[in-house]
Amino acid sequence: MSRKGLIVGRFQPFHFGHLKFIEWVANDVDYLIIGVGSSQESHTLENPFSASERRDMIKKSLKTRIRYEIVEINDINNDNRWVSHVEEISPEFDVVYANGEKEKNLFKNEGYEVKTTPMFNKKQYSGTEIRNRMIDGRPWHDFVPQGTIEVIERIDGAGRVRRLYESYSYRD
Ligand code: ATP
Ligand code: MG
Repeated sequence: MSRKGLIVGRFQPFHFGHLKFIEWVANDVDYLIIGVGSSQESHTLENPFSASERRDMIKKSLKTRIRYEIVEINDINNDNRWVSHVEEISPEFDVVYANGEKEKNLFKNEGYEVKTTPMFNKKQYSGTEIRNRMIDGRPWHDFVPQGTIEVIERIDGAGRVRRLYESYSYRD
């Protein structure tokens, strides 16, 4: 029987930690559903990149032989309905790979198998760290796959993050 796995992340931006996470999960399942979370968000400090930009980063970076598809999952800000919300958007899945306690428990409570995965170089392979580097004009390229670099350069993503930071700072 073929086993389908689900992961959900914001991928702001898609970095080497995400890539290693996906490669780890790919060894465990036959098919992977990649949920792009907070999909309605873009052009904010926490979520600078749109769902289609993030989808593009993932597609251009995933050279693995894994069979996968990407789905976009918007926030509903309601933990009680979160799993059914994901079920409405995603094809069926058997196992969820997650590391946050809250996310793990929500899926466990609905009867899903939930697995924890290792962290890879979380100090550097971190969306927050990479966005901070863009704000400060420090190098970030070594932390993301080539596919992400291509998308960010095309849209001047680093400039976008820096300008967002500046406009937020003026406001308070
Ligand atoms: P942010 O700093 O914006 O929260 P993030 O780097 O934590 O970004 P997320 O989109 O929050 O990335 O994480 C999505 C998924 O990817 C989570 O399940 C998380 O555990 C996993 N993940 C993130 N970074 C790593 C890493 N360095 N190694 C392994 N898994 C990772
Ligand atoms: Mg995170």
